[in-house]
Amino acid sequence: MLYSVPGTPIEHVMTDFDLTPPTDSQQRAITASLSPDERRVLLEHGTEAAFCGVFLDNKRDGTYTCRFCGLPLFRSSAKFDSGTGWPSFFQPFDPAHIRIVRDTSYGMVRDEEVCARCGSHLGHVFPDGPPPTGLRHCLNSVSLAFTGRGEALPDTLGRGAPEGQPLA
Ligand SMILES: [Zn+2]
Repeated sequence: MLYSVPGTPIEHVMTDFDLTPPTDSQQRAITASLSPDERRVLLEHGTEAAFCGVFLDNKRDGTYTCRFCGLPLFRSSAKFDSGTGWPSFFQPFDPAHIRIVRDTSYGMVRDEEVCARCGSHLGHVFPDGPPPTGLRHCLNSVSLAFTGRGEALPDTLGRGAPEGQPLA
């Protein structure tokens, strides 16, 4: 409950997503399909350069999913312009879909955010976001894929509905 702020209701969307991690063979196959940049950020906890990510100025209505395993991570309705140069969101698609890990690299103490299903590095969370959560989820575009409203979500791990279907 590290990130619930007393008195501020956080929209919680119940989902039926299967959070079982990818199998070893899926892990190997997906890793082999990544570009060097994607591997560096997703698997080696790198950070892309500010103002370079493809999703920074994406204003389309839809859902951002994990670039590695396809799990929905953020809705476009929670995206805001933080001025930092990285895509920023004030709340996740579902709190169960992300995991927070204390990151002490580069002489800083930060809260790293990883995909709860596959463990890929997504970005960091900071306590200076807008209402209602007061949080800023600062993401690497390379860690995300985008599905427009009404389009079928990816089903990267072959889990079946609700993956591979448009969101209800
Ligand atoms: Zn993932």
